[in-house]
Amino acid sequence: MIPLDEKIPEKINRLPELAYNLWWSWTPEARELFRRLDYPLWRRTQHNPVQMLQEISGEELERAVKDAAFIRQYNKVMLMYDEEMRNGRSWFHTEFPDVTDKTIAYFSFEFGLHNSLPIYSGGLGILSGDHAKEASDLGLPFVGIGFMYPQGYFRQRLPSHGWQEAVYQQLDPNQAPIQAMTTPDGQPLKISVNLAGRLVYARIWRVQVGRIPLYLMDTDVDDNDPWDRELSARLYSGDSEMRIRQEIMLGIGGVRALRALGINPSAFHMNEGHSGFLLLECIREYVAQGMSFQAAAEKVKAHTIFTTHTPVPAGHDTFSFHMVENYFNGLWDELGISREAFLGLGGHEEEWGMAFNMTVMALRMAGQSNGVSKLHGEVSRRMWQEVWPLKSVDDVPICSITNGVHVPTWVSGEMGDVFSKYLGPDWLARHDDPTLWQKLADIPDSELWDVHLDLKRKLMSFLREHVRRRWIDGRNDPTQVLTGGTMLDPESLTIGFARRFATYKRANLIFRDFDRLKTMLLDIHRPVQIVFAGKAHPADDPGKALIQQIYNMAKHNQLGGRIAFIEDYDMHMARYLVQGVDVWLNTPRRPREASGTSGMKATLNGVPNMSIMDGWWVEGYNGANGWAINGAEFDSHDEQDEYDAQVIYRLLEEEIVPLYYNRDRDDVPRGWVEVMREAIRSNAPQFSMRRMVKEYTTEMYLKGMGLK
Ligand SMILES: *Cc1c(COP(=O)(O)O)cnc(C)c1O
Repeated sequence: MIPLDEKIPEKINRLPELAYNLWWSWTPEARELFRRLDYPLWRRTQHNPVQMLQEISGEELERAVKDAAFIRQYNKVMLMYDEEMRNGRSWFHTEFPDVTDKTIAYFSFEFGLHNSLPIYSGGLGILSGDHAKEASDLGLPFVGIGFMYPQGYFRQRLPSHGWQEAVYQQLDPNQAPIQAMTTPDGQPLKISVNLAGRLVYARIWRVQVGRIPLYLMDTDVDDNDPWDRELSARLYSGDSEMRIRQEIMLGIGGVRALRALGINPSAFHMNEGHSGFLLLECIREYVAQGMSFQAAAEKVKAHTIFTTHTPVPAGHDTFSFHMVENYFNGLWDELGISREAFLGLGGHEEEWGMAFNMTVMALRMAGQSNGVSKLHGEVSRRMWQEVWPLKSVDDVPICSITNGVHVPTWVSGEMGDVFSKYLGPDWLARHDDPTLWQKLADIPDSELWDVHLDLKRKLMSFLREHVRRRWIDGRNDPTQVLTGGTMLDPESLTIGFARRFATYKRANLIFRDFDRLKTMLLDIHRPVQIVFAGKAHPADDPGKALIQQIYNMAKHNQLGGRIAFIEDYDMHMARYLVQGVDVWLNTPRRPREASGTSGMKATLNGVPNMSIMDGWWVEGYNGANGWAINGAEFDSHDEQDEYDAQVIYRLLEEEIVPLYYNRDRDDVPRGWVEVMREAIRSNAPQFSMRRMVKEYTTEMYLKGMGLK
């Protein structure tokens, strides 16, 4: 089943199994094992053990087998692995022993699990990936469904003019942690969906995420016409025609893939409206068995959960009725309803007229819906009240479950060691318990500070190496070497800002008063520097213009190399950034940031947030664990920007910079370390993926599985 088996010596012959289970990626002992196997290759493959095992030489393997320390580590890791894969003692099995035969199917357009599988673009994907990992840790009966995009999401190139270019790389399936699913007679397992009169096929890949299988559909198969083969080639590219085809494949094809695999979920979770068409497929199945549309819709409603992720109107997919008719012509007959009733399922008055809105369909037809922070829940109830014209805003049935981050994925090894030492070696097993974190008080200031400084130096050497590789490859000119952060200084207060470059996130806000910022950056005694990273959607020219504007600031000689823009933001870089800067800056136009998660990753590593009071920070900020950018609200964007920028400058000048540079004789900034400690203590358990998945389970999944 797993390739490579012949090549690996007997004594370590389970390495391929480990490499094909992403569990290794969030288990420090397993990461260490692969690092030890062949460190130069580990680095060259960018931490991809599947590729590494393909390319490793026989001599290196023999050397490893003879290395007693390596074998000890191998045996230890395999023991941990076997222990972990046994489900018996998991949280879910302990809490709900009677329902372990049920399955929750989780549908998402993107999954951010590891860089070796580039099928994510940003926050939504990382959230899905983290969700799957935590479902594994907690032992949930859970499967994921999504797409294998052979060209993934684009890699960002920033030429010296600063206008982002998109590069697509073809993924070699032999070097990714994916395995082809086959029929009993060894043929590729395939499903098909009718797309406007043509059958389009998809084969299915399996990704093992700890105990959880994730199934990915891929339309790049011989049976398909070239155009259909392209359907799942890339994430978020193409027009709305491509989009509806992908969404039909995800929703309808996804249900068929589960059936083909013999999986009959008790509950379906739609992460965003992209997979909304699964509702129609589930209803169609019941109607085909003889049920009425009404009865089938009620049944499906009871088992479906929908999570909406954005209050930005353009973030909700809408398709013209014309397009929907083209693709679903005749389905209404199959469902036993009229064409008008069918279109009415998603019918919604848009700015440009009536259209089929995926969010509206999901809200109407799913039994339970939620937003992703308390504030986003409120905003969503207001925004979608029109879907329930007879209900008051407060009674609109959209609840909220605040996002979280997968702690083992996002905590740095160094900080994890400190937590082990002071919270106990089993801290990871109990990390969502707030009382555990009281023990942070025992960490000496200097120790916490030293770990942070280590991580900061690690970030800066990572940035230098990032640039050096490109310089050696001849891909960078000297300007790009400068903008890539080579002049950053580990002694200076460092602000981090990395996220998708959507205009509402206002990445350029801090540049509003150039001279005032410049004074801070160039202060001789107390300098400030800022690291930026992030991609704009390939079709988002205003987003690209923002990147260019900041890129020009990074080039500006008067700012002295204290602004950096790092090319090609991804999960790997995100780890270094959220672990290694001093402050994490977040400046969305309120209330458009539904939750935000990068700030949670930062806070877990003792990096306090300075953020607009939006998304998760409304719940996270307590007055002592970071800084709130708030105060007055204005209707005019310009007035709001001006006001918020003033607040940022004042916070920096009067609070953040003085606190950071106020050192004791041992050079430890005591006041600053207190904020770091409080950031971890108050935010780490609350904004963990563990707290979040437990909440989904008790608040939504149990009911969806018919148990509550
Ligand atoms: C966490 C993460 C995001 C999401 O960040 P937000 O703060 O929610 O915008 C985006 N991209 C990458 C690579 C991440 O790791």
